[in-house]
Amino acid sequence: MRYVAPAGTPLTLTEIGRGLARGWASEDAELRLADRLCALSGSVRAWPLVSGRAAMTLALRALAAVSEPRRRRVIVPAYTCYSVPAAIERAGLDPVPCDLDPATLSFDLDHLQQLRSADVLAVISANLFGIPNQLAEIERITRQWGTYFLDDAAQALGATLNGRPVGGFGDLGLFSFDKGKNITTMQGGALVARDGPLVTALDREYRPLPAAGFAQTASTIAKLVPYSLFLRPARYGLIRSLPLGLGETPYETRYPETRMSRSLAGLASDQLARIGDLRSRRVANASALRAVLEGVPGVRFFDVPPGAVAAFPRFPVRLSSRATRDVLQQTLDRDGIGASCFYPSALVDVPQVARRMPATTHQFSGAREVAQTILTLPTHAHSPPDLAARVRLAALAVN
Ligand SMILES: *Cc1c(COP(=O)(O)O)cnc(C)c1O
Repeated sequence: MRYVAPAGTPLTLTEIGRGLARGWASEDAELRLADRLCALSGSVRAWPLVSGRAAMTLALRALAAVSEPRRRRVIVPAYTCYSVPAAIERAGLDPVPCDLDPATLSFDLDHLQQLRSADVLAVISANLFGIPNQLAEIERITRQWGTYFLDDAAQALGATLNGRPVGGFGDLGLFSFDKGKNITTMQGGALVARDGPLVTALDREYRPLPAAGFAQTASTIAKLVPYSLFLRPARYGLIRSLPLGLGETPYETRYPETRMSRSLAGLASDQLARIGDLRSRRVANASALRAVLEGVPGVRFFDVPPGAVAAFPRFPVRLSSRATRDVLQQTLDRDGIGASCFYPSALVDVPQVARRMPATTHQFSGAREVAQTILTLPTHAHSPPDLAARVRLAALAVN
């Protein structure tokens, strides 16, 4: 059956082969990728790694190494990718979830202010679905506190806010090249930094890291082939049954910490060169979805801040209740459309996070509401032209 994948970056076998070969043949493939990421994010240095979570762990270790030992807390949005708290645990630090505004997915700034303490090492943004958070405010608050700000642009590569690239706010930025992100090498990520002393601290953590292992790179490349062939709706139905980890949300603290392989860096560089096109296609598809869903009872949208250009690796909507959301997701699934309830829980309801976070009486109503009512829709270039119309029919039927 034809099935529209929830997210992805269309890649032909030729593009994959060319990117990998270019990287493999070039001594400085990582440098070329780093240069592109710096140019894109207004940074002075970039460090390509095997995954976004490995990059986050490295960043946190570097920040802890240059801070007072008491600074062990890392403030994260109470609704974000589970890899974020997992990376915090892996770095030996403690996550402190901050509630978010369910209309914008950005921090509830009042709650953020309440979390101020001398133990805070860093604040991490989320920019979920490539919608920029209130980054200038977070930047101002963290400067005032004298704490670090890591701008997590794992889903926001190519997004901007008032002309500034997301991932370019605060002290450090993070990108991911995982399966459902804005560009993909199946697995991969990078850190970027703007400030001299932090560059030294990050170099110190990065230098001893091993190069990517042959077996690991080979297995990642092996997965790229079915990914490329099967992202098209005519074939995606088949690939859903393969063990590629599609659509899962694991909490995993055991993952490799290595540099990115040269070949995969080559493939990432090639895709970065066309990030503008990839983004415009997704933004156009997101606008089409929004246009047909406008006025459908029970469907709401997340606010994109004024002055922002979003990246929309998926297009998120909010339904009026968990029940309607679940029915719509199942209806779309039966119609061959990959809509996901993404992520399934607020972080405070993930047991591995709950046991490490400081005791609190806060209700996290914003994050919990989002987890219960969100549904994300496909925006990639293999989405069929009638996608928006089909989603509209399904949404009208569940209300
Ligand atoms: C995917 C993601 C990460 C982690 O990146 P990986 O490359 O999957 O390890 C971190 N933060 C956010 C918001 C993400 O979506």
